[in-house]
Order: sequence, then C-alpha cells, then structure tokens
Amino acid sequence: MRYRWPDGKQSAAVLSFDFDAESGFYFREPEKAKRSLGDLEERRFGPRVGVDRILRLLDRLKLRASFFIPGWTVEHHFPESARIRDAGHEIGAHGNMHEALGFLDEAQEERVMREQLDILKSRLGVRPAGYRSPSWDVNVWTPALLKRHGFLYDSSLMGNDVPYEIDTGAGPLIEVPVQWLLDDAPLFRHVYGATNAIADPGRVLQMWSKEFAAMHPESGCFVLTCHPFVSGRASRVALLEELVTYMRRARGVWFTTCEEVARWHASRPAETAGSAPGKSRGAATGPRASRPAQAASGARARARR
Ligand SMILES: [Zn+2]
Repeated sequence: MRYRWPDGKQSAAVLSFDFDAESGFYFREPEKAKRSLGDLEERRFGPRVGVDRILRLLDRLKLRASFFIPGWTVEHHFPESARIRDAGHEIGAHGNMHEALGFLDEAQEERVMREQLDILKSRLGVRPAGYRSPSWDVNVWTPALLKRHGFLYDSSLMGNDVPYEIDTGAGPLIEVPVQWLLDDAPLFRHVYGATNAIADPGRVLQMWSKEFAAMHPESGCFVLTCHPFVSGRASRVALLEELVTYMRRARGVWFTTCEEVARWHASRPAETAGSAPGKSRGAATGPRASRPAQAASGARARARR
C-alpha cells in the first residue's frame, strides 16, 4: 500500500468549501467593487443560498466537511459562518480579505495572518488547525509563517496526492494537498474572456468520479474544493450528492476532514513512515530556508523523526 490510512482504509476523501463571498473581489478589484452590483450579487449567492443548501446536503449525507473562511466573510456573513461552525464542520483560515499572497510581502502577510486569526477567535471562538491560502497562492516564506502561528497543516499545494510535509526551517508543516482538477471554479465559473465554458455537471461528475476511481487504488487523498457561490447552484449540489453516492460504493474510503487527515499524518506509526511517498518533503526554498542556522534546525527536525 502506497500510503497507510487508519483502520485499514484504502483511501481518504474530503469535501472542502472555501466560503469567499465578496471578499476576494474587494481585494482584487476594489474600484470595480464600489459600483458593480452584478459582481457583488454573484458572490452573495454563496451566503444567501449556497451555504445553507450545502449544509443541508452534508446533513443528508451525514458528512463532516472542511470550510475555509476569510476573516472578512466571518464579519460580514456572521450568521452563515456560525451555522457552519454549529453544524460541527471544521473551520480553517483563508486570509482576511482573501488576499492573494503573491501581492503581499512578508510583513504584510504576517499582519494579515494576525488579523484573520483574531477575527476567527473573537467572532467564532475558533482556533484553526489548518490554513488554505486564497487562490492557492503561496510564498516561499508562508510555511514558516504558518508554523510560527501554530498551524498543524496547510492545504494549498499540489506536490503530492497523499499528505506530505514541507520543511519550514522550524520543523515540518503538514500539507493536505489540493489540485486544480478537483476545484469547481475553473469548471463552473463564468469569466468573460476566459477560454473555459461552463461545464455540464454530468461531465464534471464523470471527471471527478474518474479521478476518485483512479486515486482510490493509489491510496490517494481526494480533496475536493468547492465554493458556495459556485457549487451552491442546484444542479451542482445534486452533482455533489451523486458523487458521494458513487464514492461510497468503493470499499474502504475514509470520508473525513482536512484536519483529521493532518492529525492522522502527524500521529501515524513510525514504521509506516519510511517507505511512504508522503514522507518525501517539499522545501520552502528562499533566503530564509537557506540560512545555515535554519538548515541545521531542519536537519535536527529530520533526525528526530
Ligand atoms: Zn477562496
């Protein structure tokens, strides 16, 4: 077996939802956001309709999911954010104004990190174990920043399809990997001038089913990323229900959350670790990671495992 899952499970599957609402639009296009009611309302479909429709779906399916919520969204759509929490789903950090990290230097990223953690704690009483970077945009210094702020895991990178670890210079950060194939936005969002057309839900069901069917014997970690304003549409919620029904026909799928995957990876028996590709690490290369003192601490961290 390529990666050992708990209780002899063959693979893992996570439904994750990034509850962006209008936050990213305000960050990327602040001038347009002052006047474009059309763009704002497209995104408000998430809090107004999508979130509750998805919560009802998860309740029907008896599944816990992972929701990543920007601080701005928590403040401006508090009742919906609280309902996600109260339904027992995992809540992870997802920026404050959905800031794409490529636009931030290290000091700005540190400030944004503090802001989002303060909001999650003060408004929702949540100390998140996990982080997903807005737009999956990650700087070389980001893993060390996450480590300093006490995160157990990140879920923004594509370097494997089972959990793995990123060296931070201050010990490893667990990565619960994502991939574009399993993201609803490139398939379903209408963007003027983009080459993609809105996909038929039947085609997407086939794509995601095929990816799952191929990942399952590979002991993969199937992490689906959806957005309430995109996948909260009726036919797409129906698609998610069909997908889970299909996946449940396979034997030995662990339906879980990103946090539980990361906790398993952190605690799994040592004798399974050496041969698993999940042990192969990425390195956050860059000036910080290459400093001798930090390289040495990384070596010590490796020696401890
Ligand atoms: Zn997002």
